[in-house]
Amino acid sequence: MKFVVAIDGTASSGKSTTARLLAEKLGVTYMDTGAMYRAVTYLLLEKDALESSDGLLQNLLLSSPLEFKILHRKLYVYLDGKRLSDELRTPEVDRWVSPVAERALVRAFLVAKQREIGKRRRLVCEGRDIGSVVFPDAVLKVFMTCELEERTRRRKKELTEKGIERGFEEVKLNLQKRDEIDSTRKLSPLTRTTDAFYVDTTHLTIEEQVALIEAEVRKRIVGK
Ligand code: C5P
Repeated sequence: MKFVVAIDGTASSGKSTTARLLAEKLGVTYMDTGAMYRAVTYLLLEKDALESSDGLLQNLLLSSPLEFKILHRKLYVYLDGKRLSDELRTPEVDRWVSPVAERALVRAFLVAKQREIGKRRRLVCEGRDIGSVVFPDAVLKVFMTCELEERTRRRKKELTEKGIERGFEEVKLNLQKRDEIDSTRKLSPLTRTTDAFYVDTTHLTIEEQVALIEAEVRKRIVGK
């Protein structure tokens, strides 16, 4: 049986940390699909190809040296054999990732990879369209959000820890912009599906978020 817990939600609402810890608790693979969209954005920035035509974009994706590998139950992204991590979370990638993620070719390319990985593994998978499009038959769908001010504080702290200083308003604007593009785009917009378990993390600790979702997963598994 395919086992997927799908976690979707707004930017910096706590999806990644929650999904990673939940996957560890359940002993399944953690797949961060945002990292995949960020990797394609990084590639397009490197190749100066952000505004390439569909033809060029298609060639670039098909011939790209991007690889998505699962190691120790976690997804890693490689470009030309080099593992990408901090490169994916710079303000520049933050700035461009949502417009890149709107492109049909990019979505088709990455959704196919995500489903391929899901065929062979049990997953906690997080992103924007996981419960609505990628794995609509997920055991549990979660929609996670948090007040904008708190998300801004969290994202700013994350950047500071990486040695990147950005003003509060600049960080807030980026989150707001991404949410707007992600929720209003034509293809696979971020939506709260009617069957999703809603979690507002504004006043929750990470441990509380994980415990809440884990309890819900266990209910569903027992209920089957
Ligand atoms: O999750 P994260 O904030 O790293 O995602 C970066 C961006 O990637 C999102 O703002 C969104 O534009 C895009 N994305 C998407 N679909 C997903 C995951 C991420 O469109 N499943």
